[in-house]
Amino acid sequence: MNLRKLTSTAVRGKRVLVRVDFNVPLDKDGSKVTVSDDTRLKATLDTIHFLQEEGSRIILISHLGRPKGEVVPELSLEPIAKYLHEKLNLPVSFVPDCGGKATLEAVKNQQPGEILLLENLRFYPEEKANDEEFAKKLASLADVYVNEAFSSAHRSHTSIVGIPKFLPSFAGFALATEVRTLTKLISKPKKPFIVILGGAKISDKVGALKYLTDLADIVLIGGAIANNFLSAEGFEIYRSFVEESSTKMDADYVEVARSLIEEHKTDRILKDNYIPLPKLLYPIDVVAAPELSTTNKADAKIIDLSHDMADTNESVQLQYLDIGPKTRQLYIELIANAGTIFWNGPMGVWENELFSEGTKAIAKAITETNAYTVLGGGDTISAANHFHVEHKFTYVSAAGGAALKFLSGKMLPGILPLLEK
Ligand code: ADP
Ligand code: MG
Repeated sequence: MNLRKLTSTAVRGKRVLVRVDFNVPLDKDGSKVTVSDDTRLKATLDTIHFLQEEGSRIILISHLGRPKGEVVPELSLEPIAKYLHEKLNLPVSFVPDCGGKATLEAVKNQQPGEILLLENLRFYPEEKANDEEFAKKLASLADVYVNEAFSSAHRSHTSIVGIPKFLPSFAGFALATEVRTLTKLISKPKKPFIVILGGAKISDKVGALKYLTDLADIVLIGGAIANNFLSAEGFEIYRSFVEESSTKMDADYVEVARSLIEEHKTDRILKDNYIPLPKLLYPIDVVAAPELSTTNKADAKIIDLSHDMADTNESVQLQYLDIGPKTRQLYIELIANAGTIFWNGPMGVWENELFSEGTKAIAKAITETNAYTVLGGGDTISAANHFHVEHKFTYVSAAGGAALKFLSGKMLPGILPLLEK
């Protein structure tokens, strides 16, 4: 995939409209709003500094939250402009509309190297509607468009797909790195390529699960997602969480798990040439308890799924909340030999210490390999942070849904206009 690169020739002395993703978590203390995690802001700094050095006039546009096409004062980008100015030392001015009178006035007075942050794109219903007039209006503010919002590249919104129709369009540095990293996973991963999927929402992950299972040498399943596989294989899962299909259009995920097991049951793991395990693995034991919020150690029981469980009155109450010690051991041994690892989704309810061992052990095992390691998923990143291993991954993708869609083998609508013709 050949992205159009950001170069001096493209931007020197020009007006540059940059789509960023400043959809960051905010802390509210009365009327005071502050940024509680600036990862996404910092990710745009390389591009912004480059544009400043080239003497560009920089206009930043972003969404924040879900204001549904209306002005919602709590979702204003003003506190973010303040943060960029005060904490990241950028000459940023906030503009209280997006393409309106205030914008035209600010753009007219803008000096080279100066930065404008326009108000929340999603205060305008035209943003989600991919409205052509809105696209033209925003495009008319600049000479060049840069997309530095990979995490929004799966959305066919005005600021992602509309504006590039009217301006020469380029890939921001962070977007280009993300595309390069994810492309490497699916095109030429160093083998064995191990995919580890967990977490709660299989609906978000089913595309990537199917696509990556084809490409990987080993797929290790954990978290609540594993319950679909256990159920498909006829194990009793009691009150364990399985995501319900929410609409008629949705697949039945236990059925999806069943067909994946069926499809790959003769694919064998590539380890020491051959060991007789199927490439798609799910837990052989679990940690279970009646409630995920329990703090009583005695409530957490290890259930060995290779033995039949007695159907006692007590077991009826159980939920499977983590992978068990045997599963941990098996997964760790396989991970140790990996050439490439992609991990998305915690192995259990790691927020509760009683069900955190699986996630902790897997995080540690991954970061102790010499493999090329990519971590994705909001809660997985929080878990890695919690266990102090985040910095030990080769790459951490904060792009969530966009990354999963890319790893489903799909061309993202926001990437298409950035490709070299
Ligand atoms: P990510 O944000 O990394 O993509 P998800 O949002 O899919 O991950 O899922 C993360 C959540 O899944 C965690 O907060 C965790 O508590 C929950 N989870 C993991 N395993 C289980 C389980 N066995 N039962 C219920 N919830 C689980
Ligand atoms: Mg999540």
